[in-house]
Amino acid sequence: MDIRQWVRPNILRLVPYASARSEFKGTAQIYLDANENPFPTGYNRYPDPLQRVLKERIAALKGVDPAQIFLGNGSDEAIDLIVRIFCEPRQDAILVLPPTYGMYQVAADIADVAVVTVPLEPEVFQPRVADILAAATPQTKVLFLCSPNNPTGNNFSPAALEELIHSFPGIVVVDEAYIDFSSQPSCLRWLNTCPNLIVLQTFSKAWGLAGLRLGMAFAPAATIDFFNKVKPPYNLNQLTQETALRILAEEAPALPGRVANLLAERERLEKALVGSPLVEQLYPSSANFLLARVTAPQAIYQYLVEQGIIVRSRANVQLIEGSLRITVGLPAENDALLAALQNFTA
Ligand SMILES: *Cc1c(COP(=O)(O)O)cnc(C)c1O
Repeated sequence: MDIRQWVRPNILRLVPYASARSEFKGTAQIYLDANENPFPTGYNRYPDPLQRVLKERIAALKGVDPAQIFLGNGSDEAIDLIVRIFCEPRQDAILVLPPTYGMYQVAADIADVAVVTVPLEPEVFQPRVADILAAATPQTKVLFLCSPNNPTGNNFSPAALEELIHSFPGIVVVDEAYIDFSSQPSCLRWLNTCPNLIVLQTFSKAWGLAGLRLGMAFAPAATIDFFNKVKPPYNLNQLTQETALRILAEEAPALPGRVANLLAERERLEKALVGSPLVEQLYPSSANFLLARVTAPQAIYQYLVEQGIIVRSRANVQLIEGSLRITVGLPAENDALLAALQNFTA
């Protein structure tokens, strides 16, 4: 299977921008090649366009080859690149399974690429594999799967993921933004055997670095080559690369403990919310948030805002009408939420 069959012809032909730092890759005494300012500010030099040091570190952490990694300004950058590498505007489409993360649709809308939807199975929010495969056409170049799914919180079944990756006739993206909160294994284990697979992960959630803007795409090297051709040359700034390296060195050992703390808080919130008369249904979560269908979504949302507590209203989203998405916070924040809900009177 050659992924070039799904790449837009203009991208296959593209001669990428050759930056000064991509033309000369060694180290030298004197750099007069990039019109940089020679006075040291700490940031007067352009950063490594391919983030080699950081990729080595992430490769070791994830058990992949550095050539199988793209790093972006959040995984949102990877989503945007995927649409622009594979989908011809006004001709091709992406396939998404609502209710899911909104950026797939927005990236397609910006690129003038159509969006085909096959809603998840009601209540259990699993992909309807036969319907998805039936909806696939030569134009549906990319299938976006989100597992654990935002905003429903559940994992997709490993069997469904495996069948879709093997049978979908195009690129399959598995967005694993919440994988560190899940007990299910990552789809990274299929990276070497599935040429059409792209796995997205991020430093924004379990690592607590949403403000840093650092997302990862893992794919066969042949796919990553296209990301590198299309991305802005210096898409990841020096400060992000340095900070990520420092945090990986200093805080990687603490990560499992922090995740365990959040999971314990999730469980505590779960138990309390199940017992709340305001909650009609609480969906099982494998992420750092809970989705609850509540008795009076607008009124409860507005009341919480007045109490200084912001949750995400998903009240008008198909298949999860009347629900609120609640991120697991610090113990005191969760206590405040629960206390506020107890005091709510319709
Ligand atoms: C939060 C989230 C992301 C993360 O995006 P970043 O750009 O890396 O911050 C990606 N996908 C999903 C489904 C998310 O919920």
